[in-house]
Amino acid sequence: MSKTPITVAYGDGIGPEIMEATLSIIQAAGAQIDIDTIEIGEKVYERGHSAGIEPHAWESLRRTRVFLKAPITTPQGGGFKSLNVTVRKVIGLYANIRPCNSLHPFVQTKHPKMDVVIIRENEEDLYAGIEHQQTDEVTQCLKLISKPGTEKIIRYAFEYARQYNRKKVTCFSKDNIMKITDGLFHKMFDEIGTEYPDIEKEHWIVDIGAAKLADTPEAFDVIVMPNLYGDILSDVAARITGSVGLAGSANIGDGFAMFEAIHGSAPRRAGQNLANPSGLLLGAVQMLVHINQAEVAQKVHNAWLRTLEDGIHTYDIYKEGTSKEKVGTREFAQAIIDRLGQLPQTLKAVDYSKAVGKTIQIQIKPTVPSKKELVGVDIFIHESDRDPNKLGEALEKIKAGDMRLTMITNRGVKVYPGGMPETFCTDHWRCRFKNEALTSCKGSDVMSIYQQVLDAGFEIIKTENLYTFDGNVGFSAGQGQ
Ligand code: NAD
Repeated sequence: MSKTPITVAYGDGIGPEIMEATLSIIQAAGAQIDIDTIEIGEKVYERGHSAGIEPHAWESLRRTRVFLKAPITTPQGGGFKSLNVTVRKVIGLYANIRPCNSLHPFVQTKHPKMDVVIIRENEEDLYAGIEHQQTDEVTQCLKLISKPGTEKIIRYAFEYARQYNRKKVTCFSKDNIMKITDGLFHKMFDEIGTEYPDIEKEHWIVDIGAAKLADTPEAFDVIVMPNLYGDILSDVAARITGSVGLAGSANIGDGFAMFEAIHGSAPRRAGQNLANPSGLLLGAVQMLVHINQAEVAQKVHNAWLRTLEDGIHTYDIYKEGTSKEKVGTREFAQAIIDRLGQLPQTLKAVDYSKAVGKTIQIQIKPTVPSKKELVGVDIFIHESDRDPNKLGEALEKIKAGDMRLTMITNRGVKVYPGGMPETFCTDHWRCRFKNEALTSCKGSDVMSIYQQVLDAGFEIIKTENLYTFDGNVGFSAGQGQ
């Protein structure tokens, strides 16, 4: 078999130790890989590359299209953006797959029957990272949920369920509150779900769904969710199986894939031969399936299960009574190598014979443009006088075409007209100028409103046009409206 080129980064903290362990195991199992090592993370940040990666490292990724990455340390504050998020977004790794299952009775957990795969949208949501401070008192982060982004991740979840013989896909969203963004996610889940009659489908509001996941994880199978919920809940899910050190993840895009542990660089544990390499190893197992070396993946996974069954445990999962031997990273790796070719005796052995590499190719439907009509504008104002009625009375005079002031909100709550005196107001006001008939207005009316608001002496911090799409309103109402 010819060797598959892969890019490897040893990362920071415990990264180098767990990467050495992982590579030694998969190579002993017969992985046919040709490794190109790149440097990322702390040292690269320190050399002045604020992205944490040097330009030539992208060349390696472009060539191999497969990346096995150890965790890195993200400097806090300053102009540093997370390299993990950068890599995922720059090379379009839209799906993050995080399997979390219990290894009862060999690894202590309150949830012996848990076997959940979290499929996290990986590029959008609040991770668009578009943040602004707009007034002395108010900051903002834009939550972006797109149709193509949502369609890709939802289809991926259903295709994954089919390929891995899973029975149910659950969607988590918060569309009772975010009716447009999370509403789109839920709606597309319902629509696309009809194309998968063989798979059971359900939707949970994320808060109660998360509570149920923490309490009764055996009720779930595959769960698909927007980026932030998936980030948080996959750590929760991994932790309740026993340790965050146990979960691996695959980041999948159309042309690239990256495999890693879900945890970070755990600097306090670095350099002591302590860390559990299982998360990165299970990431590497997913990589082997992806590069069509499923047989090797299966051999490694089963030897790993057998090692845990034999009670050979790193410190994070070691428990008197259940465990037999507390070992370091290197000894744990050697114990797995010694068991290559063996199957677990109590735990279910994995079978990857039907998993045939990167077969999940998602085709999304082209967007059909709708009839989009401009019906108004939200003008956001910085004004430290906290009297909404005074602001309202000043803005009532402003009109253009059919657009006039219809409401003012503060942090989304309607405060004019007819606001409640009890509502706390900040210095950040959304002033809605709208054609109540919802018929089309002119762009020049928006410009005129903007100019009149400036002329009235107010400071505009941003505007947001109001549209209808095929007659459907494309903006949220004010709270209490
Ligand atoms: P962390 O996941 O690195 O560690 C938290 C704790 O979990 C550790 O102190 C340790 O007790 C335990 N732990 C984690 N992995 C373990 C393992 N393999 N074996 C045994 N115990 C393990 O989280 P943190 O301390 O919040 O973050 C440290 C750094 O990692 C930060 O700079 C953060 O930005 C970064 N980070 C990187 C990634 C990534 O590269 N994908 C992901 C998350 C965090």
